[in-house]
Amino acid sequence: VATRLHDIPPTIFAEMSALAVRTGSVNLGQGFPDEDGPPEVAAAAVAALEGGGNQYAPGVGVPALRQAVAAHQRRHYSLDLDPDTQVAITTGATEAVAAALLGLVEPGDEVVVLEPYYDSYRAMLQVAGGVRRPVTLRSPDFRVDLDELRAAVTPRTRFVLLNSPHNPTGTVLTDDELAAVAALAIEHDLTVITDEVYEHLVFDGRAHTPIATLPGMFERTLTLSSAGKSYSFTGWKVGWATGPAHLVVAVVAAKQWLTFTSGAPLQPAVAHALTEHAGFPAELARDLQERRDLLVAGLRAAGLPTSVPQGTYFATSDVAGLGWDDGLAFCLALPERAGVVAIPEQVFYDDPRGPGRHLVRWAFCKRREVLTEATSRLANAD
Ligand code: PMP
Ligand code: GLN
Repeated sequence: VATRLHDIPPTIFAEMSALAVRTGSVNLGQGFPDEDGPPEVAAAAVAALEGGGNQYAPGVGVPALRQAVAAHQRRHYSLDLDPDTQVAITTGATEAVAAALLGLVEPGDEVVVLEPYYDSYRAMLQVAGGVRRPVTLRSPDFRVDLDELRAAVTPRTRFVLLNSPHNPTGTVLTDDELAAVAALAIEHDLTVITDEVYEHLVFDGRAHTPIATLPGMFERTLTLSSAGKSYSFTGWKVGWATGPAHLVVAVVAAKQWLTFTSGAPLQPAVAHALTEHAGFPAELARDLQERRDLLVAGLRAAGLPTSVPQGTYFATSDVAGLGWDDGLAFCLALPERAGVVAIPEQVFYDDPRGPGRHLVRWAFCKRREVLTEATSRLANAD
């Protein structure tokens, strides 16, 4: 492995899912639903497969999907996008993140990022030569400390890499937090790259606000999202980047050399989902909220202090409450102790021994009986 990846271990999601398969455990680790999205959307993909949609799609994505993404941004956020220059389709949000960082970040540029951070940010920032400036969301509330945020910006800072709703903590940034990020970006002439894959998965009557909608922010914000989470088709890997043409063009510049294009028959199906099943993500969020409550109650009953997430499909427990000093050791022992798999959050911090050391993430995008099975196993573990 080349030195640019030398200190980046294999992704924790692959490791923990393999552990779940090997041990026959209930997998509350990797975030994927155990029920697919609307059957009509899958049928639209089959129709495209059978109907000749099997050759390369345009690199920026099929026109119907770019138009559907633009219409989605208009419907939900009153953002008006030109589907030809301000929308690019990617191979999931993963490629959107990679292409954004490779296409925009110069070696040595500092990038302010919320910690814990999604693992691909660290890997791709390193490949791009960017320098992480983490701002830590601290347990149990996981809010942004605005003083720490301001202190993270130096004369070399050029980007903020934002993620709200936030994986793994479930934090949904408040209007005040977003306004503080926006003020800082404007004051220091920063570009904001914002990962909003959980934009629809927010709870308790909250609404997600894209930072691109704040005054003065559209021109400096690149917004990333994906159909995987909103429509429960994570394996399709259809994502997108939206924003001003000068930022989207940088994504396309990198993306053309990564995959150029992918998912030709899936793209029209996602367009169908966005236009004909616009209400699905909100229904999914309502259902997930109940499952969140079920899981959080079960974890607490099993003795695990657990934060209530405002969005995403992840809840965080502090295993120090059960006498475990190290969340990674807890997660590695858990299949044998209880037949359950979770994700140690310490791998999403610069210092694994730091504030995320005892934190463990559980996915609740699973059927209710799976969640209750998992928590009853935890309650009965030795
Ligand atoms: N960003 C975050 C915060 C995620 O949780 C995920 C996982 N879905 C991704 C990006 C990657 O999304 P995709 O599966 O569409 O590549
Ligand atoms: N986004 C999902 C998670 O956070 C899955 C990620 C992955 O498998 N790379 O668990």
